[in-house]
Amino acid sequence: METITSHPLPFFPTLLPDESLHSLISRFHRLSGNPRERQTLQDVFGTHALVATASLPSHLPNLCAALPVNAAQSLDELIDQWTLLPYFRPFLRPEQTTACLQAMTSHSAGGTKIGIGLVASRIGGRNVFRYCDQCCIEDEMRYGSPYWHRAHSLPGVLLCHLHGRLLAEVRADLVELRRHNLFLPSDSWVETASSILPMRETLCDDLFELAKASADLLAMQLPPTPRSVLRSFYREQAARQGWIDRNGRIEHAAVTHAANCFSLAQSAELDLAFCQIPDWIFRHLYKHRTTMHPLKHLVLMIMLQTSPRALQAYCENLDKSANVRILPYHGITPENELSSASCNARRQRFVEQISSIPARRAYDYMWLYKHDRQWLRETISRCAKPRATVRNKVAWHVRDREYAEQVRHHAALLYASDVRTRVSAAQLARATGRKPLIEKFSAKLPLTIQAIQALEETVDAYQCRRLQAIAKASRAKGEPLVRWRLLRTAGLTCPLAPQVEKLLAALLQGR
Ligand SMILES: [Zn+2]
Repeated sequence: METITSHPLPFFPTLLPDESLHSLISRFHRLSGNPRERQTLQDVFGTHALVATASLPSHLPNLCAALPVNAAQSLDELIDQWTLLPYFRPFLRPEQTTACLQAMTSHSAGGTKIGIGLVASRIGGRNVFRYCDQCCIEDEMRYGSPYWHRAHSLPGVLLCHLHGRLLAEVRADLVELRRHNLFLPSDSWVETASSILPMRETLCDDLFELAKASADLLAMQLPPTPRSVLRSFYREQAARQGWIDRNGRIEHAAVTHAANCFSLAQSAELDLAFCQIPDWIFRHLYKHRTTMHPLKHLVLMIMLQTSPRALQAYCENLDKSANVRILPYHGITPENELSSASCNARRQRFVEQISSIPARRAYDYMWLYKHDRQWLRETISRCAKPRATVRNKVAWHVRDREYAEQVRHHAALLYASDVRTRVSAAQLARATGRKPLIEKFSAKLPLTIQAIQALEETVDAYQCRRLQAIAKASRAKGEPLVRWRLLRTAGLTCPLAPQVEKLLAALLQGR
């Protein structure tokens, strides 16, 4: 049975710092004297069919209307201070934020988690009832009762962001049994059903950083940040870590190495299981369309040694500079970026950059190519750094003389020592160790080519040289010169070339 509360409640407790909505309603329940929780839920939300543990609860206008005059809050204030939307909002698209707000003001926020990708992320499965012993003691001293803190309930938060102590967690099965009940950390069953979370000491430093960053993000109440700005922020930080080279290319090996060495990759915590495979980091650094869970953003910030506050400062600086947001990297361009101020700023930066780097490597090249191509062409032809000319860089005449000398030297050696191989042009070029270069740039090496052509041995000349060498060796051994043996040793078959035949006849006659 659902009714809209028409009359404000006679009283309502004040929200304590970082208190969760469930905690606040639980405290109200204690003070109200209602015998059953469903009556309290009916009083506050106008319905008892509601789980007050939800991070993004529905029926909020009813809650607003039920607040007494002295505790009145606007709906926006209530959402910022009583729900976990500020934790998700910076990483949502504006339309997703609008859908969340609509769901929270309606009678069902069930589809919200699917709409903003929380279900797909498989993060946040752990029950949210965690508390810090030290916080409980201090809360009791200051406010008279321990209460549930929003920051302790965030996924991946296993340490207190204030005290660095491991949180105690209430047994999940008991929480499930009592999901329609309203309870506080001081309840006797909660104390007996809780245990300190086991954690390896090596993980504590990074987990503490994660807890502090999560609490900060929740408290800062940032607006939705455009993905292109998030990406350029991460890329700037990544470049500082050596993950991106000076040309803007991502060093995959460096990213993978950092991800493997990161302590939280060793964590057995289910919500942090994504750290074990580094793909999600690349999705942050490249253009992507998916909504990523805030925990993935926060873990990346810790890896990059930055924080939500640095992101806030980055966004503020972007807004200040020329009152336009200029993306330092190629990305989806919102319509409002097509303003003339933005275009002029890009033009100016492009002109500055192309004096030192090639135009195509300038940050704004692609944007200008898409939106301002005529100006781009004219500017490149007018201002671009002239291409370094390769002409005259090589002293070809010096090389030519050097290679020609090498050819002559090697030819003399080959003629003197090797009768088994013909001294061909290829053999002479190969002997210099520069055969491919001589073949490719033959036109620039006239002396070398002349030397090769002059010293190359013809087939007839080689056969003659070989016969002379064999005859000389036979004489030295005192063997008689016989035609068939000379031919067989020289590997020659008839008919012989006239020049060779003439030499053979002379050798046989003993001349
Ligand atoms: Zn604490």
